[in-house]
Amino acid sequence: MASKRFVLTFPPDATGQPITYNLIKKYDIMINIVKADVSPGKIGHLVIEMTAPAKVLKEGMEYIKQQDIECDPIEKKITYREDLCIHCGACTAVCFAGALTMRRDNAELLFEPEKCVVCELCLKACPLKLFSIDIG
Ligand code: SF4
Ligand code: SF4
Repeated sequence: MASKRFVLTFPPDATGQPITYNLIKKYDIMINIVKADVSPGKIGHLVIEMTAPAKVLKEGMEYIKQQDIECDPIEKKITYREDLCIHCGACTAVCFAGALTMRRDNAELLFEPEKCVVCELCLKACPLKLFSIDIG
């Protein structure tokens, strides 16, 4: 058995397809939805964790791609220079995964790496360019 996280990116006209249902029913893949940001008529993102034998995971990925949905395994990692952060909040506005939020108690940036889907949007959003990507 292998578990892997993926970011699925749906084109605006593909939302509403029962992708996760089919992955479970047709391929017997265990699915854990980490984050969903899908609304009709817009590009949607779904972060899922799939658990199945490696061969079946590959078949599942192929099935997703056949539906014209991008399927990217999460293999990279985001880091940021916490010491230089000015807590402006610009990065929180683009982080749909909710990995970057402003703390209520002290209005400082909170980064929760386990929620990060490596969409890389914060790299451009930060005026001080504090984010970078580690591969592997
Ligand atoms: S890459 Fe940046 S914007 Fe994207 S999910 Fe991770 S922390 Fe949020
Ligand atoms: S955009 Fe950059 S400086 Fe602003 S809160 Fe995020 S990491 Fe800190």
